[in-house]
Amino acid sequence: MSVDSPTSEGDGSPGRVTCSLCGHRLGSAGRFASFYPTDDRSAPAPAAEDGVVAVCADCTVEVDELVDAWAGHDAPPVADEWSIGAGYRRVAEDCSFCDRAVDGDAVLGVEYFDREAAYGGGDGPHANFSLCDGCATVFEEFLDNVGGDGGV
Ligand SMILES: [Zn+2]
Ligand SMILES: [Zn+2]
Repeated sequence: MSVDSPTSEGDGSPGRVTCSLCGHRLGSAGRFASFYPTDDRSAPAPAAEDGVVAVCADCTVEVDELVDAWAGHDAPPVADEWSIGAGYRRVAEDCSFCDRAVDGDAVLGVEYFDREAAYGGGDGPHANFSLCDGCATVFEEFLDNVGGDGGV
C-alpha cells in the first residue's frame, strides 16, 4: 500500500462515510484531508474527532480550488522524537499558501488524498502542505463555509 494512513480505524467501510462538510454520502470521487497540527495548535473543527475530514465530490470542487493555490511539499519525516505535525514543520520551509517562513511557528500539516489511495491501491492525488497559523485559521473558516447553505 502506498499510503501509510495514520488513522487505522475510522469508519471502516468506505460506503458509510459521509462528507464532513455537508453531510452527504461520500461518492467515489470523495477525497480526504488529514490534519497534523503542531502541539501549539489544534485541528480544524470538522476534524476534531479523528483529525480527518472526508470531502464529497461536490465539496471537493471548492476545496480543490483552494488547494490548487497551495504549494505542496514532500511527505514529512516521521520519527518517534517528534509529532507528525512537527514533521510537517521540519519539511516545510515556508507556508504552502502565503510563503511566510514557518520556522518555529505553529503549523497545520495537511495531507490531501484520494480515497482510492486511502482504501485501495489507487494512485490518486496525494499531496502534503503546511499552513502557517494565520493561513490555517483562514482555512478553518473556509471549511466551515463549504457545504453550508449560506447561513451565518
Ligand atoms: Zn460535501
Ligand atoms: Zn501562511
